[in-house]
Amino acid sequence: MPELPEVETVKRALTPYLENTVLSSVITRRKGLRFPFPDQFSEKLSGKRIINITRRGKYLLIYLEEDLVLIIHLGMSGHIRVLQKNIPIPGKHDHIDFITQKGVTIRYNDPRRFGIVTLAKREFIRSHKLLKNIGPEPLSNNFNAVVLMKKLNGRNLTIKCALLDQKIVAGLGNIYVSESLFRSRISPKRLSKNIGIKKAEELVKIIRIVLTEAINAGGSTLNNHRRPDGKLGYFQHQFFVYGKNGELCGHCEKVKIKKIIQAGRSTFFCSNCQR
Ligand SMILES: [Zn+2]
Repeated sequence: MPELPEVETVKRALTPYLENTVLSSVITRRKGLRFPFPDQFSEKLSGKRIINITRRGKYLLIYLEEDLVLIIHLGMSGHIRVLQKNIPIPGKHDHIDFITQKGVTIRYNDPRRFGIVTLAKREFIRSHKLLKNIGPEPLSNNFNAVVLMKKLNGRNLTIKCALLDQKIVAGLGNIYVSESLFRSRISPKRLSKNIGIKKAEELVKIIRIVLTEAINAGGSTLNNHRRPDGKLGYFQHQFFVYGKNGELCGHCEKVKIKKIIQAGRSTFFCSNCQR
């Protein structure tokens, strides 16, 4: 599933093609994804100028003139490509084409169709049901040890499950929680209510480092993340634990990385390094 670094990579790649550009048409090839597309979706977007693109957690927010905001979530398997010439015939999972006046096609592909593509008015963005409960952006100043500790201590969850909760911190998923807990030396089985201020400080610092490194690497390509230009992300080569079950821990070189299931999701960790 695309997490914050993958979505940020997509945002940065789309920006030069979309900012200050008019959408000439939008083609949808089905009625919706996780939810139906808005009524007259194509008509509402066609002819509108895109002002800018931002990201909130795992959501892309594309601001257009007339106070319109296009909200995109890549779900489990969503993927966006920029196509400029020799545009291929759409495949089975190419559900939407956004075509700009400059002749660029932004193609949304999503085999599992858990993605979300919808519209909102700018004035209602902060209170939008998909966005209003999202916690602080981990790379912003709103994310700090005091805020994190308060949120963690208020919940009776394992630290792994707590950090996956988008209300506690925005944008993290299985990969970056596993890697951040490893580098912080915190067992994923520890209860979030027992995380003190020192560990919270360490977590904030490490989460920022891991996300920044991952963004700089263009995200992680495991099954389907590609950058919009088709190139791969390469942060997967810097993983310490994710997907490495059965391999000797590269840090302590004493025990093998374990995989456990927590709340239905895989967790990878070193039982020697992480306590
Ligand atoms: Zn270890």
